[in-house]
Amino acid sequence: MLALGDRALLDRLFHRSGFDGVMHFAAHIEVGESVADPAKYYANNVTGTQVLLDAMLLHGIDNLIFSSSAAIFGEPRHRRIDEAHAKAPINPYGRTKLVVERMLEDYGAAYGLNSVCLRYFNAAGADPGGAIGECHEPETHLIPRVLSAASGRAAAVTVFGSDHDTPDGTCVRDYVHVNDLCDAHLLAMRSLWAGGGSAAFNLGNGNGFSVREVIGTARAVTGRDIPVVTGARRTGDPACLVADSKRARKELGWSPRYERLEDIVAHAWRWEGVLAGRCGHRMPD
Ligand code: UDP
Repeated sequence: MLALGDRALLDRLFHRSGFDGVMHFAAHIEVGESVADPAKYYANNVTGTQVLLDAMLLHGIDNLIFSSSAAIFGEPRHRRIDEAHAKAPINPYGRTKLVVERMLEDYGAAYGLNSVCLRYFNAAGADPGGAIGECHEPETHLIPRVLSAASGRAAAVTVFGSDHDTPDGTCVRDYVHVNDLCDAHLLAMRSLWAGGGSAAFNLGNGNGFSVREVIGTARAVTGRDIPVVTGARRTGDPACLVADSKRARKELGWSPRYERLEDIVAHAWRWEGVLAGRCGHRMPD
């Protein structure tokens, strides 16, 4: 659990095996928790990452793929967020990701560490085969929460704020399939191995869906009624985050396979069936 900041453990691992690169997924990721407990976020996401980078340098590993986030941008200043967009995070989670991006620029210039920062918008979906999916404790993300209300594992889903500056008042996000994100990581690592140099890419579908639209899609995909409660805004939530991913398509050759929200939700629903089965809830065929 604490391996990221455990220098002795990293030294043993890096010493024992030959690594051509590192993919770093080991951050804390909940916006609300980062507001309530920023120390936890700075300790793991920033200090832990610096420990990892220093261990990599000592062992001659100079290629890193870093899971960054749309949260580094803050409130959007134009409709789609490209890489040139101002970086002005509005919550501690986003600030920790931006600090690491800056650290990587400095480590690149001074020590030759090559990195690709992949700024995920809303990672969602599950492996279409139904064998791999997300399982957080507690689960905070919208799509799994909506689907657990559909399966009966949860009584209802709460909509966090209906007075945002968006067409239906609920937050708009860009949901990108987890397998498409996997593809981007492989392409990014290959580009570093080919001498492509450090870079940063925004990864999303370029389509924004409101919380209410996600719930509507989930009702259509599952055929279930999904009880909804309207609640207060969640602190630190930007109203709208939608990616411009042209650079990733052009420079990495990234081509997302699952661009329809229906497919993303359908794959997550299959996975919800696995989770609900473990809890003894019956799922439809
Ligand atoms: N959201 C919601 N109810 C929930 C969970 C999330 O209304 O139970 C909203 C949240 O406020 C945000 C969007 O759904 O606008 C996506 O939230 P999520 O936590 O999935 O990802 P984030 O955008 O925070 O990375």
